[in-house]
Amino acid sequence: MAGVPGLNPLVVLGATGSIGRQALQVAHHLGIEVVGLAARRGSADLLELARQWPQADVAVSSPTQDERERLATEVGGQAAFGPEAVAALAGRSGVTVVNGIVGSVGLEASVAALLSGNRLALANKESLVAGGPVVEAAQRAGGGELLPVDSEHSALAQCLGDADPATVRRILLTASGGPFRGRSAEELEAVTVEEAMAHPTWSMGRRITIDSATLMNKGFEVIEAHYLFAIEYDRIDVVVHPQSIVHGMVEFVDGAVLAHLGLPDMRLPLQYAISHPARLDGPVPPFDFTGLELTFEAPDRSTFRCLDLAYAAGRKGGSAPTVLNAADEVAVQAFTDGRIGFRSIPVVVEQTLERVEWRALESVTDVGEVDREARATAWEVIGTAC
Ligand code: MG
Repeated sequence: MAGVPGLNPLVVLGATGSIGRQALQVAHHLGIEVVGLAARRGSADLLELARQWPQADVAVSSPTQDERERLATEVGGQAAFGPEAVAALAGRSGVTVVNGIVGSVGLEASVAALLSGNRLALANKESLVAGGPVVEAAQRAGGGELLPVDSEHSALAQCLGDADPATVRRILLTASGGPFRGRSAEELEAVTVEEAMAHPTWSMGRRITIDSATLMNKGFEVIEAHYLFAIEYDRIDVVVHPQSIVHGMVEFVDGAVLAHLGLPDMRLPLQYAISHPARLDGPVPPFDFTGLELTFEAPDRSTFRCLDLAYAAGRKGGSAPTVLNAADEVAVQAFTDGRIGFRSIPVVVEQTLERVEWRALESVTDVGEVDREARATAWEVIGTAC
């Protein structure tokens, strides 16, 4: 494939996941060359993708021995193994890296992409939530370009354009409110994992769906917005918008508000991050305004405490958001395993934040250390306080 003039070839990390697959759909739709595919495991799905994109090098971070042998046979010298192979793909020069890796292991690849001056289309939340200062430093050092692949941040980036930051009064992130919008704290006491998994507008993975039900996901997005747009927390607001049609709004100092509307389809922010500043024909059908009703309300911060815990951790900066993320991941795991109730999720996060000592973050190693300490502490909290 000759590729599209002006658009870099793609490296897709987390290629077998939901973001990775949609990124490959966008690549196929736009006729962009894919030169790298990475996944955690060397599954049959990954082999199938390697066959579909025969020019792509393949990196597998933690393959089994069987997977290693099979890939070596079928993909040959184009296959490489270990987290360093994934980072090497991300750091190859002159590519756009789509980071759809799930979890804090995505940070190293984000840093590698930015240090090499690449465009990073970032869907891995942990990169900015757990490692914001490290990602910022990598971007400064390598000159890479960071474009968000999250509906809210993509919307905000589009509304902001190249506006002078001093002309922005505030940015507004919209939240669907999740399946428990309007419920009281008491009503949340006995909710089940199945109820928490029933997200009204988006179909997503397990952790992010639970995080949407607690509003922690929105808290993470507030922290991401802080780093992406270099805007202080006092100028970032959250508004509940159950229809998930308006993805973000920017209010300027003159009182004008720009909003971004679109169907809830991740291929939209993916394509924008890949094609920016060009706008190319997309796979999404024309927008229909007929009968559309859009409503907005304030989030219930006392019932959904995770939102304010995230703001507080974000304001502290350094290791606090790293602890927030790790403690939340453990708490969500404990909830879905039936070990704690839904309302204990913020309790675990809050107590872990109190117990883990604050420090500055300078490297991926620092983030890894804080992450491990926070996970161990969160499990202790679950064992003693819940
Ligand atoms: Mg989002």
